[in-house]
Amino acid sequence: MLLLALSVPISLAQRCPPGSQPCPTTMADYHYPVITTDDDNRYVTSTRCPPYANPGWSNPGSACAINTTYTFPLHPKFALNPVPVGEELSRFEGIYYLKEDPAPILGAIGVLVNGVVVYGRGSPCGAGSRCPNAGTGAPSIYVDAVDSEGNTIDQCGGHPQQMGEYHIHSAVTFMNSTGRQMCSLPADSPGNHSVLLGWMFDGFPIYGQYSQGGNIPTALDQCHGHTHEIDGIMTYHYHMPMSYPHIIGCFKGCPEASNNQQLGSLASQYCPNGGLDTDPQPAFEGPGGATVPTTSTASTAGTILASVLVVTSTMAFLLLLL
Ligand SMILES: [Zn+2]
Ligand SMILES: [Zn+2]
Repeated sequence: MLLLALSVPISLAQRCPPGSQPCPTTMADYHYPVITTDDDNRYVTSTRCPPYANPGWSNPGSACAINTTYTFPLHPKFALNPVPVGEELSRFEGIYYLKEDPAPILGAIGVLVNGVVVYGRGSPCGAGSRCPNAGTGAPSIYVDAVDSEGNTIDQCGGHPQQMGEYHIHSAVTFMNSTGRQMCSLPADSPGNHSVLLGWMFDGFPIYGQYSQGGNIPTALDQCHGHTHEIDGIMTYHYHMPMSYPHIIGCFKGCPEASNNQQLGSLASQYCPNGGLDTDPQPAFEGPGGATVPTTSTASTAGTILASVLVVTSTMAFLLLLL
């Protein structure tokens, strides 16, 4: 009898940190995020729970409701140089490793409009990552999370980590309308710029894979963002890619330090005096998707034109002398 009792699993209940509950497994119990603004910031208060049904929520951790308010500057400032969130190093035993310097930002880097938290692309070896043991010649202690954790993600590209924080590393699963519906996100309309999907911690918005006219974005910078008019206002924004860098390549703006403890030192390093009002390395997409020259290219062209005019007028003057 005793042996029989012991052979039954002790408990199938999910385990969450003290004070938090397992995420709901049905849509009826889901709480949508509350989004408010004041003069300076947008605030997104989320339970961090996924708004789609999954009876398990336990791979590799258990998804838990952890009420959190994230802050996004309403008037984002540009960093002097893009802030790295995780840079590729090399492939080893089939997995992409990331550089240790600059170290990848671990944990949250943004939030989707459905309240799901977006993590960076880096993952430390040994924390649920498929990663060789130390001493095997691995080139770094960080790996690409999509590469190394891909076998644990659900139908929306997410999973909970060991402390119960549900998150995504990639948007690939909800790039089409079926995925958007399945993951409780707004769908794109054909022939138009993709809809807003969320905000990164520097305050800049992030959209789906399509730019103006429903076309593939042009003039994307290394952060996977660019600038063009949205609703009549020139706006820097990110586009989610179908592949590397998975979400964003870097922060173009100054990240809000209160959202992730790793961001404080980066904000002071890349944004002395609070950052810049204008983009130091602008990447413009013209109306309809054509790339327009940046200010520096335009002034170079202007200098060449001025030189030609000087030469031409000098020649005319010489001709007059003859
Ligand atoms: Zn993860
Ligand atoms: Zn765009």
